Amino acid sequence: MINRICISTINRCNLACKYCHFHEKSEIKEAQMDIFKILDHVKDYVREKQAETKQVEESLPKPLFKIGFVGNGEAFLEWDKLKSYIAYLEDFPEISAYTITNGTLNLASKDWEFLEKHRINVGFSIDGYKELHNKNRCNSFDKTMENVENYRKATGHYPTFNATVGRDSLENADKVIEFFKAFGVRITFSRMIGKYGISLAEYRDFLKKASKSLEVRSGGLDCTMYGGKCGAGTNNYFFANGNVYFCGNCIDLPPVAKSDISFFDLEKMSLDFDRNYCYKESL
Ligand code: SF4
Ligand code: SF4
Repeated sequence: MINRICISTINRCNLACKYCHFHEKSEIKEAQMDIFKILDHVKDYVREKQAETKQVEESLPKPLFKIGFVGNGEAFLEWDKLKSYIAYLEDFPEISAYTITNGTLNLASKDWEFLEKHRINVGFSIDGYKELHNKNRCNSFDKTMENVENYRKATGHYPTFNATVGRDSLENADKVIEFFKAFGVRITFSRMIGKYGISLAEYRDFLKKASKSLEVRSGGLDCTMYGGKCGAGTNNYFFANGNVYFCGNCIDLPPVAKSDISFFDLEKMSLDFDRNYCYKESL
């Protein structure tokens, strides 16, 4: 069963992070994509899967499906649109959603509260302490931390963090871990890929160390970039620019389908390879 997708709601970003693999790729072109249609397809699929599951299990695991409003750019640049997609899922508690922001745009307190009320997990992209973060992320540390505080004031708790792990993080692992410890929240580390990338083995060693002191997202059929197995061509897909791709890292491969495909048809596209490794890197 497909149980997670990412939808890239926007191709623009107000930052130009040094390692951003989306912006390394010249083939990303602006194209129309009907996001409400994708959400309708998710709802149809979840309804059907729920009916099938009910035949064997009375108490259903919830939620059944996760949508990440995350992709090629900064989703908060089109806040009203993002808000309308989130509101469109209000009647479907079986679908959970999250978004990731670079944290540099000021949202009003009521907007942070809107996200909280709709159970949207908000991940702030922070790579670690100021000097390390600023090196690759356009000196955005102070602004991002200011909004982390604004988020905390509006919701009563810290957001989660998404940190990219590159060579500098490996060389300063203790300092990076110490920085995140102070917040007591879950951290999603992801491996830097592309020109400045580190190896999967190096990344796994870092995760092992970080997991001793932090709540680290890991495991499962998802993506080796987050410490799990590769879910490409099984349970997760990436929607961007009117197309569907195996994942955000696969946007320079031919698309799997157009974004208006139903999830029942998408389910038929499967890949066979060793899921302990990244599909893209095995090509
Ligand atoms: S904030 Fe994200 S999308 Fe924007 S340039 Fe940085 S890594 Fe890329
Ligand atoms: S192909 Fe690589 S980047 Fe994509 S989901 Fe699999 S492990 Fe992750």
